[in-house]
Amino acid sequence: MQFPELILSTHGPGETLALGQHMGSLLEAGDVVALVGDLGAGKTCLVQGIARGLDVPESSYVRSPSFMILNIYPGRCTLHHLDLYRIHSPAELEDLGYREIFYGEGVTVIEWADKIDSLLPEEHLRVRLEFQDEMGRVITMAGIGDRYRERWEAFKVSLARFVGS
Ligand code: ADP
Ligand code: MG
Repeated sequence: MQFPELILSTHGPGETLALGQHMGSLLEAGDVVALVGDLGAGKTCLVQGIARGLDVPESSYVRSPSFMILNIYPGRCTLHHLDLYRIHSPAELEDLGYREIFYGEGVTVIEWADKIDSLLPEEHLRVRLEFQDEMGRVITMAGIGDRYRERWEAFKVSLARFVGS
């Protein structure tokens, strides 16, 4: 089941970072966050915030894994950060052992998640980032699956200050 979408907006990377940090503080072991949006929309920026919210040490600098599809960071939960920009087919994830990652104990955040829709766990948090203007981004979030049902209100309350576009 899909919950009503939560539509937020940020003005500048600092706000997206702060939004990510709020999200990260609400994430739990086993959560999967699917990020969708064009190049430069702010996906990596959001992941940097999520890392902060998961207490990933500042010394582990989160960036776009340019040659790696997967980066793993220690934190309150292990953060698996996938960037699928360069993959051509979902089959390329087989070598990675993606099932253990997606259904494991860590938190998984996937950039370009729409490239692997068929492999995504049925239950996940879907986040779409869209350009509004140079500094403005509209960020739409939806919890998909029962896993997020009870937590949806907490998400809404905690992220309320970002609401409005
Ligand atoms: P993606 O991973 O989606 O390709 P990045 O996070 O790497 O995007 O880059 C986003 C770029 O957009 C950065 O250069 C950042 O400074 C800029 N930017 C401007 N406004 C915002 C905003 N509101 N949120 C996030 N990034 C923004
Ligand atoms: Mg990126």
